[in-house]
Amino acid sequence: MYDLIVIGAGPAGLSAALTACEKGLKKILVIERDKEMGGILNQCIHNGFGLHLFKEELTGPEFAGRFIEKIKETDVEIMLDTMVMDLDENKNVYILNTRGYQKIAAKAIILAMGCRERTRGAIATPGDRGSGVYTAGAAQRYMNMNGYSVGSKVVILGSGDIGLIMARRMTLEGAKVLACVEINSYSSGLRRNIKQCLEDFDIPLYYSHTITDIKCTNNRVSKVIISRVDEKYNVIEGSEIEIPCDTVLLSIGLIPENELSKAAGIIIDERTKGPVVFENMETSVEGIFCCGNVVQVHDLADNVALEAKKAALAACKYVSEESSFERIIEVKANKPISYTVPQKIHLPIEEKLIDVSFRTNRVLGNCVIKVADSGGNVISRYKREYVIPGELEKIKVPVSLIRNEQNNITIFIEED
Ligand SMILES: Cc1cc2nc3c(=O)[nH]c(=O)nc-3n(C[C@H](O)[C@H](O)[C@H](O)COP(=O)(O)OP(=O)(O)OC[C@H]3O[C@@H](n4cnc5c(N)ncnc54)[C@H](O)[C@@H]3O)c2cc1C
Repeated sequence: MYDLIVIGAGPAGLSAALTACEKGLKKILVIERDKEMGGILNQCIHNGFGLHLFKEELTGPEFAGRFIEKIKETDVEIMLDTMVMDLDENKNVYILNTRGYQKIAAKAIILAMGCRERTRGAIATPGDRGSGVYTAGAAQRYMNMNGYSVGSKVVILGSGDIGLIMARRMTLEGAKVLACVEINSYSSGLRRNIKQCLEDFDIPLYYSHTITDIKCTNNRVSKVIISRVDEKYNVIEGSEIEIPCDTVLLSIGLIPENELSKAAGIIIDERTKGPVVFENMETSVEGIFCCGNVVQVHDLADNVALEAKKAALAACKYVSEESSFERIIEVKANKPISYTVPQKIHLPIEEKLIDVSFRTNRVLGNCVIKVADSGGNVISRYKREYVIPGELEKIKVPVSLIRNEQNNITIFIEED
């Protein structure tokens, strides 16, 4: 029996395993379906990683490398090329690799399976079904890891970070990126990526537009039709623009990878598509914790690694039977806040501050994030110049302010 099994060897899984090891946990196993550790970072060869954690600008593989080097010096067992097929609430893990199908068990589990990309089918984009349509992450993998060129005249649907980064990457490889098309009136990517990946290369960004048709010639994309949409996403007739191209990249969102969580009976938050978690990253099943993109889509790998430390510390406490609490309170979100992580808090706890992260569903200028107790009294305030859906917002709620709370706290925003 292992003390801890970590599923996934991306930055979340590696940071969690290292922290647990540093805390003295003895029998730790990391299981990864890929042939190497590093997760999605292995294909992110651009820089921009590690600014918070290492105070340096690293590429994705360099960032992952920092964890991989350290973990190789420990007794943490790494099982690569191994797919976790199933998980149950008793912390039995069912794996498949070249040695066959096996059941292994642990006292605690950390889920760190990351996200997968939404595909054309998820948004039912009409048109011909020829070649030349890729998810942005798949195109990134083909280019950066396999050395293939995926196209020469490109239209990108969605202004998420992966799409923005691929716009720059393909331009630097000699392709012409003709347009980035975004259905919302705002981008879901980081501001710095809009500047560095589109504006610096004069790539037009069409807000409130979507692809309404894809045409193929000889079974390859030959043009797309984009159209303007209204605020309810209805296509506005007569607004069509025809763009001849050979490639369409889809950057239309990520979905936390939670089939295993569901199999273990973990409660999933329909808003985040990740497990409902407590402040210590424990899920609704005792002893199963989670961190990183499996919980919610993060902007920065640095934050993923920090969140993983929290999950690991809680898993260590759980294994040594040190965790105890008296009651649970709920964290509620009022619109335009779409959700919060965590959704629940154990009380009392030793920590002085609780990290709460969330996204809004619209852009707000000068505003104040407020926390209210269950009686409606505002107990803390956080000023912001702006909040945008593309950037994960974070506040630290002092535990002293909620020590006596019995039911819930509510997070909301008011414009100044
Ligand atoms: C294109 C792109 C650009 C980015 N740019 C930046 C940036 O500039 N700066 C920055 O800080 N962040 C950036 N990020 C974000 C950052 O890379 C992610 O937030 C981070 O990698 C998420 O880490 P993770 O460990 O949760 O998930 P992942 O890195 O996805 O790792 C999950 C791991 O779990 C494994 N796994 C899943 N299911 C199973 C299973 N059933 N069995 C075994 N293994 C399994 C997967 O193979 C994978 O290795 C970018 C992300 C992308 C996609």
